[in-house]
Amino acid sequence: MHTYKNSVNKIKVGILGCTGAVGQKFIYLLQNHPWFEISEIGASEVSAGNLYSERVNWKEEGEIPVRLGEMTIKNCNAKFESKILFSALNSSVAGEIEQQKANDGHIIISNSRNHRMNNVVPLVIPEINGEHLSLIKSQPTPGAIITNPNCSTITMCIALYPVIQKFGVEKIIVTTMQAISGAGYPGVPSMDILGNVIPHIIGEEDKLETEPKKIFGKLQNDKIEYAAMQVSASCNRVPVYNGHTMSISFKTDFPAEREEIIHELENTNSLGLPSSPDSLIYYSHDPLRPQPLRDVNTDKGMAVTVGNLRKCNILDWKFTALGHNTIRGAAGAAILNAEYLIEKNLIDIE
Ligand code: NAP
Repeated sequence: MHTYKNSVNKIKVGILGCTGAVGQKFIYLLQNHPWFEISEIGASEVSAGNLYSERVNWKEEGEIPVRLGEMTIKNCNAKFESKILFSALNSSVAGEIEQQKANDGHIIISNSRNHRMNNVVPLVIPEINGEHLSLIKSQPTPGAIITNPNCSTITMCIALYPVIQKFGVEKIIVTTMQAISGAGYPGVPSMDILGNVIPHIIGEEDKLETEPKKIFGKLQNDKIEYAAMQVSASCNRVPVYNGHTMSISFKTDFPAEREEIIHELENTNSLGLPSSPDSLIYYSHDPLRPQPLRDVNTDKGMAVTVGNLRKCNILDWKFTALGHNTIRGAAGAAILNAEYLIEKNLIDIE
C-alpha cells in the first residue's frame, strides 16, 4: 500500500504540455497538493532543454513556484519516469504522444479531445460516472488513457446532473459564452475579441452534443451504452478571461416544480477528495447571477454555479450555469480524476 497520504512520500507525477494555459494551471494547483508531487514536465522540442522559468509566459496568480521554475522542460517524446502523467497537450499532437505514453506503461489523464470517444477510454466526471473508469481494464496497453470531457460539456453535465437523476432529461438546448482562456495561450487575438463576440468555436458544438451521451451512458459488460439524449449547442467566444457561462433549456421526463428542481440543485454531495468542492453545485437566488467576474472561483473553481431557473416556453425549464474552464473544465478535473483512481484503488502506483 502506497503511503501517498503521508506528505513525505507523495506520488510523483509528470505534466505534458506544461507551458500552456492548462499546463500552467496544473502547476498552480499541484504546487501544494497533499498526495502528488510534480517530478517532471514536458512540452514541445522548442521548449525542451529550457528551465521552466525561462520558457513559460506565466499567467497564473503569484510567482512561478520556485522548485518548478528551476526544473528543466523535457521533450514530450522523451522517456518519462512518473506512472501518472497529466496531459495538457495541444490536440494536434496529443493523440500520438498520449498513445505512446500509454504503450510505455503510463496512466495518462488527458484534457485533449483525441481519445475521448474511443470505446475503451473512460470520459469521466467522477461525481457522475466514476464507475466508467473500470473501462481502463479493457485497454490493450500496459498503461491507460483516461479523459476529461470538454470544458463546456463538464459545466453543462454537472449543472444538469441532479435534474437528470431526479426527473430525467432527454432534450437540451445550450448556448455558451466561452472565455478566451479556453482557446489556450496566446489564444484569440485581442483585436478579434475585445468588445466583440465570435459566434463559432471550431468543433465545440459537436463535443457538447455527443460527449454527454457517453458520460450519462450505462456501463454494461465493459461497454458503454450511450444515453438517449439530444443536445443542440451553439457556442460563442466572448471577451471574458476565465469562465464559461451557458444558457441551458431542458425538458424533463417527469413533471417537476421549480422548488423541487432548486432543492435538487442545492443538495449535491462531495466526494471528499482533496480537490473536491464541498458542494458540486451552488444555486444562486439572485437572478443576476452567475457572473464570471463574481462566481468563477466558487469553491476553488471546482464547483458549478447555477442561477435564474425559470419556465421555458418551448422546453420545460431554463437556467444559467457557469464553470471555470481551466480548473473544473480542465486541470482541476484531471487532478480529481487521478485522486478518484487512487482512492478507489483502480491503478497500481507502486
Ligand atoms: P495551449 O495553451 O496552446 O498549450 C498547449 C501545450 O502543448 C503547450 O505546453 C505546448 O508546448 C504543448 N505542445 C504543442 N506542440 C507540442 C509538440 N509538438 N510536442 C509537445 N508539446 C507540444 O493549450 P491549452 O489551452 O493549455 O489546452 C491544452 C489541451 O487542453 C488542449 O487539448 C485543449 O483542447 C484542452 N482543454 C483546454 C481548456 C482551456 O480552457 N484552455 C479546457 C479544456 C480542455 P510549447 O510551449 O513548447 O509549444
